[in-house]
Order: sequence, then structure tokens, then C-alpha cells
Amino acid sequence: MSNLGTFHIEQGPIRPPSEAASLLIRVTRNCPWNRCLFCPVYKGQKFSLRETSEVKEEIDRLRDAIEVYKEDRAAQGASSKKIHPGELTRVALWSRWAKGSVFIQDADSPVIGVKRLSEIIRYLRDRLPGVKRVTSYGTSRTVAKIGLEGMKKLKQAGLDRLHIGLESGSDEVLKLMKKGVDAERQIDAGRATVGAGIELSLYYMPGLGGKELSELHAKESARVINAINPTFIRMRTLRIHPAAPLAQLAAEGAFTPLTDDETVAEIRLFIESLEGITSVLASDHIVNVLGEVAGRFPDDKEKMLAAIERYFALDEETRLIFRVGRIGGAYHSLDSLDDDELRARIAGAIEKMRSQGIDVEEMVRSTAEGIV
Ligand code: SF4
Repeated sequence: MSNLGTFHIEQGPIRPPSEAASLLIRVTRNCPWNRCLFCPVYKGQKFSLRETSEVKEEIDRLRDAIEVYKEDRAAQGASSKKIHPGELTRVALWSRWAKGSVFIQDADSPVIGVKRLSEIIRYLRDRLPGVKRVTSYGTSRTVAKIGLEGMKKLKQAGLDRLHIGLESGSDEVLKLMKKGVDAERQIDAGRATVGAGIELSLYYMPGLGGKELSELHAKESARVINAINPTFIRMRTLRIHPAAPLAQLAAEGAFTPLTDDETVAEIRLFIESLEGITSVLASDHIVNVLGEVAGRFPDDKEKMLAAIERYFALDEETRLIFRVGRIGGAYHSLDSLDDDELRARIAGAIEKMRSQGIDVEEMVRSTAEGIV
């Protein structure tokens, strides 16, 4: 075992919520495209590849840290002073909760090429004990270039799941948002991933067409997803972060954001338009108004639409109470409204904000934007 000392391991800024407890391995820094108007994550950051040897060295160090952590736990001792506290948290999370899940960062790992990524995946599967799942982000631009045969090689190397930001299936929306890809290439990339036997998480962003393109955005996104039949559809409602270039467009009046109710109506049209798929729709982010709009197609489609109808059957003030409770973390689903005491407290808080001249709708919106 190498001398651990206090070592530092590079980590990128984001990973999907489903990878919250995964061990993070960074093979590139930032995003090679970095032009999407709605995305604040890597703006101002330069893209670069990490040396394969450097990544391998970190994998070896993580392996040693996992061993030390396990020895400590077996001896029921205090946390090892040989491991940096930050790394200890990562190792502990992975060893205890992530069930052997590894996530490769940053925004588009396949861009390093099939050969190099395969080498790293094989290495980490060989060196780290108990790896059961390897996942990564990728972009349709890159995956469409790699194609089916290349994706099969990544699957053989041990890539189990890919997260791709579809965002929209509408060419107009994709062009407006500078996504750098069109609908047909998104379909090519999705089919190559699924065809290779790699689980595909495809992200749909409700609201990305604004008021101007909402209907087209919903219908075209559904069309593209119908053509791919991804393993998962993950919803991430558009929230315009102040650092995203889209904020400027909205300020100039060139993009009109949807209200929360309009967004839920768009999601209804999107779900109605999904046909012939067996995907699981996940609403695993607080930025989505309705967490219960989730389930497996086709069986749960009516249940998802019923949840939307239930929301719209509420009067306007109750919908606001729900959204305040939801964004504040007090409500998880519409059933939460049945808690009379909690509901009265939220209604009281809304009254208080109004008496102080606070625009509650605006407060909900800006809170959500701050979460992105
Ligand atoms: S959305 Fe993805 S591809 Fe677009 S700039 Fe952000 S990280 Fe890059």
C-alpha cells in the first residue's frame, strides 16, 4: 500500500442525483462544448483532458483509502488520520451506501475517445474492490460520432449507464439554446447507446422553449424520446440561473419563461405525446413542481396524468401553498397538503410575506433558480 498521507483527489462540480453516493473519478475537466445558453455550470472554465496516468494514480490511491477505511471500521476505531477528511467522506459514502457505483466526470467523458475511456474503465474495475456499476455523462454530439460499434466497445469495457442531456427534441429550441446538436443526431446517439446495451438516462427540460415554443418543445421532445425508448427519462424543469447566458436573453425579452402552472401544462402535453416506450420517467429533482409525476411507461402513464389533473383541480391559492411547501422542502407530494397544521403554517407564512410586500410567486421562482 502506498503512503496515503493527506492526498487530494480532483473532483468535478456536479453529478446526477442518482449518483449522490457514487465514487467520483474525473477524467476530463469541464465541458468541451460549454455553449448551451441555459447552463451555468462550466461557464468561464476551460476544458482539458486529464492524463490517463494521473487518473490511474488516483484510482490506486482511492483503492488504498478504501482498504484503510475498511480496516478502521473492522477495528471499530476512530476515522483514520491517514485519510484526508474530504476523501474519507467519499470513501465512506461509496463503501457504505453506493453499492459499488462509480461515476466518471465531467460533462462529456466519451470525448476522450473509446480506447482511452475503455482503458480507464477497465483499470478502475480491476483495481477498485466491489465495483458494480460504472456510469458517466456524455453528449449526443460525441456519442453520435462514436456510433453503435464504439458504444459496444465501451459496454464491453464495463460502462453500464450513460446520462445524456437531450433537453429538447425540437430543432428550433436546440438551435435557440445553442445545444450544438439537432434532433436526428440526438436520436442517433440515443439509439447507439441503447443498442449497445448501455442504460440510458435522457434528460428532458420542461420550459426550455419558453412561452414561444412550449408546444413544439413538448411534442418534438416526445417524438425523439419515442424513437429512442431510453431506460430513463429524467425531468429537470428549466430554472434560469443568473449566471446562465439565458438570463440575459430573458432580461432583453427575447425569451419568455413559463410560469410553474404553464410548465406543468407543458409536461402534461409531453406525457400525452409519449407513445410506444417502456422507459421509467423519474422526477428526481426539487426544481420539478410535481415529484409524483413519475413511473414506468406505459402502465403508469394514466397515473402521471391523473397527478397533473389533481394539481390543476386545486384552486390557485392552494397551488401556491403547495409550491411554497415544495420548494421549501416541507412538501414531497400533493398528499402533503392533507397535513392541515403544516398547510396552515405555510399559508400563514405566505400572508406574512405579502404583508411585507414580498411577491411570493417571485420568491418561489428565485428560490428554484438558486437551487440549479
Ligand atoms: S448543458 Fe452539458 S453540453 Fe451544454 S454547456 Fe452544460 S455541460 Fe456542456
